[in-house]
Amino acid sequence: MLTGMMMRRQLTMTSIIEHASRVFPDTMIVSATAEGSRHSYSYREASRRIGQLANTLAALGVRPGDRVATLAWNGFRHFELYYAIAGIGAVCHTLNPRLPAEQLACIVEHAADRVLFFDPTLASLVSQSRAAFPDDLRLVVMADGLAGCESPELADVMIYEQLLANAAPDCPWPELDESVAAGLCYTSGTTGAPKGVLYSHRSSVLHALSVIAAGTEGLRPGNVILPVVPLFHANAWGLPHAAPLVGASLVLPGPRLDGPSLFTLMDRERVTSAWGVPTVWVGLIEEMRRQGRKPQGLVEVIVGGSAAPAAMIEGFEREFGVCVVHGWGMTETSPVGTLCTLPEGRGTLTTGAEINKKLSQGRPLFGVELKIVEDGERQAHDGKAAGELYVRGHSVTAGYFENPAATATAFDAEGWFKTGDVARIAPDGFLQIVDRSKDLIKSGGEWISSIDVENAALSLPGVAMCAVIAVAHDKWGERPLLVVVKRDGSEVTREEIIAALASRLSKWQVPDDVLFVDCLPMTATGKVSKLKLREQLAPQGN
Ligand code: AMP
Repeated sequence: MLTGMMMRRQLTMTSIIEHASRVFPDTMIVSATAEGSRHSYSYREASRRIGQLANTLAALGVRPGDRVATLAWNGFRHFELYYAIAGIGAVCHTLNPRLPAEQLACIVEHAADRVLFFDPTLASLVSQSRAAFPDDLRLVVMADGLAGCESPELADVMIYEQLLANAAPDCPWPELDESVAAGLCYTSGTTGAPKGVLYSHRSSVLHALSVIAAGTEGLRPGNVILPVVPLFHANAWGLPHAAPLVGASLVLPGPRLDGPSLFTLMDRERVTSAWGVPTVWVGLIEEMRRQGRKPQGLVEVIVGGSAAPAAMIEGFEREFGVCVVHGWGMTETSPVGTLCTLPEGRGTLTTGAEINKKLSQGRPLFGVELKIVEDGERQAHDGKAAGELYVRGHSVTAGYFENPAATATAFDAEGWFKTGDVARIAPDGFLQIVDRSKDLIKSGGEWISSIDVENAALSLPGVAMCAVIAVAHDKWGERPLLVVVKRDGSEVTREEIIAALASRLSKWQVPDDVLFVDCLPMTATGKVSKLKLREQLAPQGN
């Protein structure tokens, strides 16, 4: 074998932000703040502050390999943390503010976070969780003052802008190996402990390049990208890496994600391409209909995280001429695995066949391989055979962080990752997700574990057996429905069950409805057959 004679430069996050600051110095990052004001600065300025922040982290005692947590919405300080933490060889651990306080504390403990940076709007969540956090966890509020941090639990909080003001501007970035860890994100909602996915610099850079190579309209120099998908979830689909890499502007929407707020922001900032879960687009499209127009400049909407409904694709495309690109991915796949960019390019749909194509989750990105497996056998990519979707690639997890038990069951003998999704693959490579083998419900982009809800329901005295299934919901995509077999003689009511569950579960996990049945369909192995239950209830399932 003859070795190539090319320079070996490491693929690092620092190389992305340095490239953006050198090549696209005046391209902007705009943030909508929680208070409703607008913040904007250029990649050059962002890069300068990222250097200062890196010096701040070092002064706080953060060392290579340490985990530094963020609990924040999409804004410029969160963007800075992504790059500064990873740039010094530490790990940016994004926490989901929608998780209950106890789960947050478990995750912080498992990750052994050293410092927690949080948005002032999330101060009450931090103060609630403080007692359960490790004593030596240091806290920094992402603001220029202490407003919102008045509670005694937050007495020792440091202020982001004060720390930055005292830091030297230039950071001598260390030469990192590309295999060094850069980010950490826990998958939520599954049963058992949440599982951490540990991204490397290399996987993040390659993922960004692959997302760009998929050929969306938005990811081009000079265009404006809006990640509605949160920075705290799965790298915000790689956009904080891909946009500076390609020279596109970023618009970071803060906490207000309702239709009218998004419309106003997109209209004002001339957003070209907006990325998010179906739930947020329900609100946007309602607002577009109310105003009788699309936000100025909007060319495309990327829909992922849950299946894009046909009515949504038709609404955007036929009523407003906005191209919809449907995609599939997982926290474990960095996350984008497939995107439905059509060879014909964008345009307004006319035929049913084209809509069917757009309903599919599209083709794998460069570096992503898919296979479908049923009863241990690999299935044909003929658009007919269905099976569990397995994936492998340069930006797919190779194991869960500090979790050998979960890792042991997540891969097949050849090292492919088992997704828990059920899919078909057409001869032309387009993926169609048809079901989910994992027992989870996805509501508004957040997971609800059916098993957790069932366990909570089974602890109630009147409930003999129960099952939770997802039912389609116009706004949230899916909502949980609880199906209950009562104990003999029990008079328990729907309202009593819902009230009891509300005291045990997070608000959004509580089923909207309870259905009483005489018996539940069972599988041969004596488990409740959710497949049969879903079929039995299909006519009511909306
Ligand atoms: P998460 O790791 O929380 O991002 O969730 C990943 C899961 O979301 C996948 O395994 C699928 O079950 C689901 N998912 C993501 N995108 C889609 C999509 N376009 N259609 C259907 N399900 C999806």
